[in-house]
Amino acid sequence: MVKKLLCGAVAIVFFVVFSSINILPAFSQSQIPEWIRIGVFYADTYKKSSPVDFVKIEAKGSLFLAISDDKNFITISNTQKNSLTVSKDVYKKNGQEGPNYHVAVGRYISYKTAENSLKSFSSFKDAFVGFVNGGYSILIGCFDNINDANKLAAKLSGATIYSSETMVLVKDESGKVIFGFDGQNTKFLMLIPQKQNGIERIKIGSRWFRGRAEFKRIKSSDMTVINVTRLEEYLYGVIRMEIDPLWPVEAVKAFAVIARTYAVRNLGRHLSIGFDLCPTDHCQVYGGAVDGTYGEKQAISAVDATRGEIITYKGNPIDAVYFSSTGGIPTEDSENVWRYPIEYLRSVDNSKEAKNSKSSWLFQFTKDEIKNMLKKKNIDIGDILDVQVVEYTKAGRVLRLKIIGTQGEYECQKEATRLLFGLYSQAYTITTDADVAVVDSRGKVKKVRISGQKILFEDGSVKRAVVAGQKQNFEETEKLLPQTAESVYLSIYDEVYQSESFGGIETEGQTYSQQYIDVVNPDGSIDKVPLVPTTYTFNGKGWGHGVGMSQWGAKGLAESGYNYKQIIKHYYTGVEIEKR
Ligand SMILES: [Zn+2]
Repeated sequence: MVKKLLCGAVAIVFFVVFSSINILPAFSQSQIPEWIRIGVFYADTYKKSSPVDFVKIEAKGSLFLAISDDKNFITISNTQKNSLTVSKDVYKKNGQEGPNYHVAVGRYISYKTAENSLKSFSSFKDAFVGFVNGGYSILIGCFDNINDANKLAAKLSGATIYSSETMVLVKDESGKVIFGFDGQNTKFLMLIPQKQNGIERIKIGSRWFRGRAEFKRIKSSDMTVINVTRLEEYLYGVIRMEIDPLWPVEAVKAFAVIARTYAVRNLGRHLSIGFDLCPTDHCQVYGGAVDGTYGEKQAISAVDATRGEIITYKGNPIDAVYFSSTGGIPTEDSENVWRYPIEYLRSVDNSKEAKNSKSSWLFQFTKDEIKNMLKKKNIDIGDILDVQVVEYTKAGRVLRLKIIGTQGEYECQKEATRLLFGLYSQAYTITTDADVAVVDSRGKVKKVRISGQKILFEDGSVKRAVVAGQKQNFEETEKLLPQTAESVYLSIYDEVYQSESFGGIETEGQTYSQQYIDVVNPDGSIDKVPLVPTTYTFNGKGWGHGVGMSQWGAKGLAESGYNYKQIIKHYYTGVEIEKR
């Protein structure tokens, strides 16, 4: 029996990873927020980032301590320093980690009053102001065990012990703690840089950003470091990563509106670990501050020229998906790549697309490589006998793909037909080294796989190449085919791969790779052709999923005189551009 495996389980995984855009709740905000939170260090299933124990923060001017909640920021003190380290308040001992113990004294209504009282604790070199239990206290020492902390507390009247898993410490360059903050994950520590020429710039780790830094100790992502920045300034740092800012200005402006729409629609995508968007291609690639970078001026002016504009459909921000190129073929209907039809994501003409390096491409895999690709997805259908496109979309992308193996079949659809092989796009044809040109009864030349064809041999016998069970063979067949000069392949037999034995010539011990036949070309030369393909060549066009706007297409349209609104309305069917 031939096992027929459908790609149900695998397809579901693809949808979760690549099409989660479809399951986000509908947009409910009428205003574009001024600020946005972008993750810098955090726990990430994409493994492009990880939480940190400590991080260095720098600025050109002073850094200010501030307290934030999800909506407000309150500045509490100027540290007078431009380089600080923020770390988790933990000790590490014998491979174990735990929250430090501090001796807490006093209760103050403001940072300022607490700081003033610090003078009376000058005999303790390691005393610092702490925000604990919703107010300010003086904290003394960082102990890795409660006994040492208790000993000290016993000497001070009214002292208590404080220890928390959500506390962070701010240290100066000498390592001295200058502030301890525990907002118990409802309030957070923020560092705000002094403005330079009206702009906030802050260095988080090794990268400069516009805006501020925020620190959250979240169990599953401890410690998460976030760049809190103005949405429009965030877009400056997106443009230069996702599109060439020196492209025609209308294309760059179209992209600015798309990136803004994406951000607004996807606010809070990473809310479970404390921020809105991550800086990778999971959300939008964000490179931080643009100062002195390639195309800086153009990126900024494209964002400024479209300030506040987003793309809407029936009043809601659209899922403004985009991709690189199609190689000139039309874009794709959303349901032919992902799960659902979306009204504004329809296949449209893309023939004006600018030429690019992925206009056409070629990937080649051996049958063993394909077998291994399937194995990695826990699909085992034995040795690979054929890979066939079952159905194409109107635009020319693979909709259904079938892989035939010695122990079963695997069929997949839509985006999976690309991702399975890691191809640039879903628009491709497949040829193999077992393909031969045949002349059919109407005199038309076409490429077919040799397997399953009726073959007229030199001795006048006609056999059919069959693949049965674990063997490949030639089966005697009726002599009804006249020999022609053009080709030895004369007709196509469709049901090549059947599990039943054909009962033809049983040749012992032969494996697929060993079976070749000599093909006589019209000029008399001879090609050795394998009975079963050993290599598969994917000839394709374009790069990306093919739904929504083509970036190279937008460039082509801008070059032919379209403005950014016309470009957007070309790629997203029936949408409006609204300023909010
Ligand atoms: Zn993300």
